[in-house]
Amino acid sequence: MKFSKLYAPTTKDAPKDATLPSHQYLIRAGFVSQAGSGLYNFLPMGKIVFDKIKAIVKEEMDETGAQEIQMGVVTSADLWKQSGRYDAFGKELCRFKDRKENEFVLGPTHEEVVVDIVRNRINSYKQLPLHLYQITTKFRDEARPRFGLLRGREFTMKDGYSFHEDEVCMKKEFAVMEATYTKIFTRLGLDFRAVEADSGAIGGSGSKEFMVLADNGEDDIVVCEKCSYAANIEAAKRAKKTTTIEAPIADLAKFKTPNMKTIEDVCQFLRVDAFYSIKAVVKKAIYIDKEEIVVFFIRGCDTLQETKAINACGALDLVDAELDEMQKVGLHAGFIGPVGLECVKFYIDKELREEKNLVCGANEEDYHWVGVSMFNFKEERYADLVAVNAGDTCACCGESLYVTKGIEVGHIFQLGQKYAKAMGATFLDKNGKAQPFFMGCYGIGVSRLVAVMIEASHDEKGCIWNKQTAPYLLDIIISNVKDEAQNAYATAIYEALTCEKYAVLLDDRNERFGFKIKDYELIGLPYALIVGKELEEGFVEIVERKTLEKTVVKQEDALSKIRELLA
Ligand code: ATP
Ligand code: MG
Repeated sequence: MKFSKLYAPTTKDAPKDATLPSHQYLIRAGFVSQAGSGLYNFLPMGKIVFDKIKAIVKEEMDETGAQEIQMGVVTSADLWKQSGRYDAFGKELCRFKDRKENEFVLGPTHEEVVVDIVRNRINSYKQLPLHLYQITTKFRDEARPRFGLLRGREFTMKDGYSFHEDEVCMKKEFAVMEATYTKIFTRLGLDFRAVEADSGAIGGSGSKEFMVLADNGEDDIVVCEKCSYAANIEAAKRAKKTTTIEAPIADLAKFKTPNMKTIEDVCQFLRVDAFYSIKAVVKKAIYIDKEEIVVFFIRGCDTLQETKAINACGALDLVDAELDEMQKVGLHAGFIGPVGLECVKFYIDKELREEKNLVCGANEEDYHWVGVSMFNFKEERYADLVAVNAGDTCACCGESLYVTKGIEVGHIFQLGQKYAKAMGATFLDKNGKAQPFFMGCYGIGVSRLVAVMIEASHDEKGCIWNKQTAPYLLDIIISNVKDEAQNAYATAIYEALTCEKYAVLLDDRNERFGFKIKDYELIGLPYALIVGKELEEGFVEIVERKTLEKTVVKQEDALSKIRELLA
């Protein structure tokens, strides 16, 4: 490709809201253009990268025997009502009506549609297993579209769905997909981990996320220093927290604690370590048909993990409760405790089960209990509610855990029979009995990966592409296009490599050398060949983008040297 013909509108300035390198460079290097909040167009170079990633995903998926299909972006609302997700999916689901008042949704994921595709068509266990996948557009009306391609509203996902006669087969395919995803992300050259995950709105039992380790990741991942345990903080487990600090042994008694509304105040006043106190976190839970105040009790030294709390109460979302909302249901903010609490729904962190000698609010203005024992609560009240912290103990091996940042690039789920049951999709098993399918589903954020490649590899000058995903492998820069010798030499190399099917760029623009090299560094192709003044003495320069190291080579050796590098 000749740069003079390439549509790659590079700019010095990034949009104001572009805080991450990938967002800045994708726009500045002319890979994408923004069309609206969370909406992006791919320009020629962005499209090449996108297609290269897509090709790797497709190759590895096809290798497993999964079959590619293409489902519509617009899906009938009726299917979503059958699964129950028309309401449960919340505001991310974009619903609309046509001129005849028929209801539709823009597919944020395609479990419903794929179940409808096989329903009444796969009738016997003999036709199983089956794995169908697609690489297409999704739409999610994200609350906070941001970070460019990392969190768009319209984005491209590879989503695969497998159907099985039993749990064993479903788990087998899950393992195949885990191995396949590992291959895909390894081929892309990414530093990643498969971690235990929360299943979110998709539902089902076991699920694993593939996280690329990156400072700018939105996800916190908990990793063990010793064993292989790794989990998203939303699903992370730890060994029960203990302390060497002596317990404040006391009989149950009510203490006046005037105006002491925080854990710190109360603990200081009563001379108790926060470990032995119970903190009340009050939230407003949003359900499909109602809102309600819910209280979560955790140790004073812990923090509430929101996703775990949402799972415990089954809400769509949790928001902070206002003071007047708490008062209205009879709560005394700052003095809330589980003992004798009746006015609201509440949950207790499971690590508090059967603990003794605790301090908690007395549900009365200016009073706290001391010497509280946690024996008389119903089992349903207990749930895993707390965020695992760096330094907590690994439940698998007893070593220390640490927390790091990751970007989710893939998520694989064991769905079980959830969708098939809800939508009445059955097959006849070996005994001739109708059974709902066991399903798995497997997603990869293909457009997100375009940005992830940059997050994982860039410097202060621009992108640093690897050969697997670079839009072109080499930039042949003609220092002065008016110099005939430079032109002739560069063009000959360009034509030779193009003829050999190497994707190379020839910067033949009538621009200053400094301008061209800046563009080269910004776009970040793996190598550049600089054809400049030194050609008169018979020399050219090869630049490696990653290190920006320059190697001077004889003009007659350049081609073979480049072939070696690009191979
Ligand atoms: P997240 O927690 O980042 O919102 P998710 O759990 O909602 O992701 P899935 O439903 O598992 O994501 O979708 C599969 C994959 O699609 C994700 O692993 C991610 O790579 C990608 N993806 C999800 N939402 C977006 C988005 N808004 N923009 C770009 N890619 C996305
Ligand atoms: Mg999401």
